[in-house]
This record gives sequence, structure tokens and C-alpha cells, in this order.
Amino acid sequence: MVDTLIIVLFVFTIFICMKDINEYIKESYTERIAHLDLESECVEIGGNSTAFKGLLSYVLGVTIPKSSKILLCHKCHNGKCSNPKHLYYGTPKENLEDQKENGTWIPVWERMIQKYGYEGACKINSKGNKAAGGLANKGKPKSENHKKRIADAIKKKWEDSKK
Ligand SMILES: [Zn+2]
Repeated sequence: MVDTLIIVLFVFTIFICMKDINEYIKESYTERIAHLDLESECVEIGGNSTAFKGLLSYVLGVTIPKSSKILLCHKCHNGKCSNPKHLYYGTPKENLEDQKENGTWIPVWERMIQKYGYEGACKINSKGNKAAGGLANKGKPKSENHKKRIADAIKKKWEDSKK
């Protein structure tokens, strides 16, 4: 009974001391990475980024982000690592800089293929990027043959980049 009470009090204390992540993210990058210590070893306890967010939020005393604009970033570049001293909350831009610096950055196109498969990525691309077919054709519907040629060109480009 006493144990339960302590836990309830503990949780409540954490709850009222928590800083809103949406405020926290506005702090400077330097402040947000101040807790990092890359001298320590990576810790792989399993779980995914949702679990790591819980862990990091607890350590930092901030709420768990709901927005996709606040990312859990691995300063050690080990996606499986859950050591809070290697994790920080960053913006998509910071995450990108981090990945580029490390060489783990994957172009958007490739990432889309990984996620949706080649056919799916082509579909999304043809919907989202209307200007890609050339400015002269902007707004005009493309023939099936034209669409196929575009898809083949994209595929070839992608395959070439794999070599
Ligand atoms: Zn690590």
C-alpha cells in the first residue's frame, strides 16, 4: 500500500515537473545536446524509437513529442542504441545534418522505395511532383506511354545509383 502511494507520488511529481517538449525544442541545439556523452558505450536493450522517446523524455524531464517535427536523434548514429547520453531531440533539419555528416543520409527517393516499394514510390512521385515531367507539359495530362517512359527513366536512374 505504502509502495503504491510512493509510486503514485513519484509519477505525479514527474508529471508536474515535466517541461513541454514543444517549448524544449525551441532551446538552442547546444543546450539540447548538453547531456550527451559519447565516451560512454552504446546500449542496445531492444525496443523502438517510441520506447527510446519515453526513456529520453524521462531523463530530460520533458513530455514525449507527438509532432513528427520533433525527432529522436542518435548522436552515435546507431539506430538500435537506447543510451540516453547518445540520444537527443532534434528538428528534421538537425537530423538531416547529422545523417549527412555521418554518411547515413538516404535520398528521399530511395527512402520512399524502401517504404512503399518501387511501384508505390512511382505512384506517389507522379502525384506529388507535377513539375517533374517538364515545365512545357505542366498541367497537361500525360499519355500512358509518356508515364511509362518517365517511370523507366526514374527506374534506370535509381538502378544506376545502386551500382
Ligand atoms: Zn549509442
